[in-house]
Amino acid sequence: MAPEAGTAADAAGTSRPDFDAIAIGAGFAGIALIHYLREAGLSIRVFDRASDVGGTWAWNRYPGAATDSESYYYCLTFSKEILQEWTWTQRYPGRAETQAYMRYVVDKCDMMPHIQLNTEITEARYLADKGWWQVTTGTGESFTCKYFISGMGMISQPEIPALKGLDSFKGPIFHSSRWPEGLDYAGKRVGVIGAGATSVQMVPELAKTAADVIVFQRTPNYILPAMQRPMTPEWDKEIKDNYDAIVAKCRNHVFGMAFDSPVGRNVLDASPEERQRIFEENWNGSFRWVFETFDDLLASSEANKLAGDFITSKMKARVNDPELAELLCPTYDDYPLFAKRPPLDHGYMEAFNRDNVHLVDIKKREPLVEVTETGVRTTQNDYEFDIIVLATGFKAYTGALEAFPIIGASGQTLNEKWGTVSGSIMGVCVADFPNMFMVTGPQAPFANLPTSIQQNAIWISACIRKMEHEGYATFWPRAEAEEAWTKQTADIHAQTLMAQGDKVNSWMMGANRADKGARVLIYFGGANFYYDAMDQSAAAGFPELEFR
Ligand code: NAP
Repeated sequence: MAPEAGTAADAAGTSRPDFDAIAIGAGFAGIALIHYLREAGLSIRVFDRASDVGGTWAWNRYPGAATDSESYYYCLTFSKEILQEWTWTQRYPGRAETQAYMRYVVDKCDMMPHIQLNTEITEARYLADKGWWQVTTGTGESFTCKYFISGMGMISQPEIPALKGLDSFKGPIFHSSRWPEGLDYAGKRVGVIGAGATSVQMVPELAKTAADVIVFQRTPNYILPAMQRPMTPEWDKEIKDNYDAIVAKCRNHVFGMAFDSPVGRNVLDASPEERQRIFEENWNGSFRWVFETFDDLLASSEANKLAGDFITSKMKARVNDPELAELLCPTYDDYPLFAKRPPLDHGYMEAFNRDNVHLVDIKKREPLVEVTETGVRTTQNDYEFDIIVLATGFKAYTGALEAFPIIGASGQTLNEKWGTVSGSIMGVCVADFPNMFMVTGPQAPFANLPTSIQQNAIWISACIRKMEHEGYATFWPRAEAEEAWTKQTADIHAQTLMAQGDKVNSWMMGANRADKGARVLIYFGGANFYYDAMDQSAAAGFPELEFR
């Protein structure tokens, strides 16, 4: 192991890489990796092109950006001290608060010396003769390491739609995750293309001061209420008194969340009255409702339809214009609940009761034709804007890994290797890419991300400890293990209602990607079972990898 960052040779004159490990991404993944790899005695440098730590929360600065997971389990749990010290101000923290929390962890744990900001990595290459990786920065510097790790995030690479005329608009036009610093939208006419989770958070906030907000919606969403509320001293105490149990709940939940499920009852066994009562009693905000009402909402199409209908009835009740309410709501025939990731609502439905907020249904009513110099043209109207926001989503799971060449042992890039099938071993390793790890790569579960990230970092650090203690130079992910995981992931996916997301462009299927199309990107077998699989792998000495 290299004793210090930047050491090129040890006392015996043996050549060493610059760092034991290099990771990209100073969000939750980078922070967790620094913690666990430093604990294992490794030198690590984390690069990030952003000017601050925070990952998602450094980039997504659009008005209203906040977590949709509840604060007290949307955090890293490796330090009991920090869990006790940090106090959240509300149920769902805004992006600035989450970023402040991450800065706090970095400072408290003295991680900043391991982080190099404002540095874009433009290439990562496996050096076969040495068994190392070399990363190159945007300014042409290069660094070597034994272990190369992507912590670049699974929803970080923007998907820019191929709309005609996109470059012709004269005003600011940008992706939601690239909100210009200090942009003043008060009194302005703002067009928002897209109606996913980002748009749902952004629109009510924009509506407060913008002159006009027009949302171009292609597919409506099942929108669950957030029901934001401030943290009280009593609630904070209850959380802090029970953190061990909260952490255990996340570890053992199918979506890595601190929910009380399974609940041991099915919709189809309940009478209509009982079903209605349980649906109503649990209508308390967050994704909880899906998991803490009944166990079969994502498994049975009949149960899913009943749940979806309940949600849309609640949505419609909050919109004054019944025709508009219909347009804002999907039906089971459109797609089942959870085939797209449901947004959480902080006043989105009510925003459409304002005079300055309008919906343009570009699927059923007036298809979008082009972006013009002055705004957006549909088949029926010309809409003039001062600002256009592309809330059009992300190249999820693989986008960041395909955005620059990551070149493996045989000279192929990850992008070339993956083509239209993005295979992996548990979302962390890929055959032909020795000594490389991904945190929440393709075919990992979609779950509460800090929980999954931490589980991945634990597995990665255990693997590296084995490598170092047993004196191995390289590990080679086995092709047959990748095939087996890919097949298992595909088989599970085919049995779920989520698989229908490919019909409605769900990013969960990669179906929103014009260049790649639908793929099995997510392990839907349950995050808890995935974490079990990782623990079993580590306990068995990582049989998916060949150590040399
Ligand atoms: P998204 O869910 O993929 O939504 C993108 C929207 O843009 C969809 O309405 C899509 O329509 C539309 N769109 C895409 N291309 C289009 C085109 N060419 N013309 C017209 N409309 C187009 O993206 P997102 O809202 O950014 O959310 C992505 C994910 O990020 C979320 O699901 C969530 O996991 C994460 N996120 C999290 C938070 C949070 O936790 N606080 C907040 C925001 C986002 P179609 O549906 O018809 O494709």
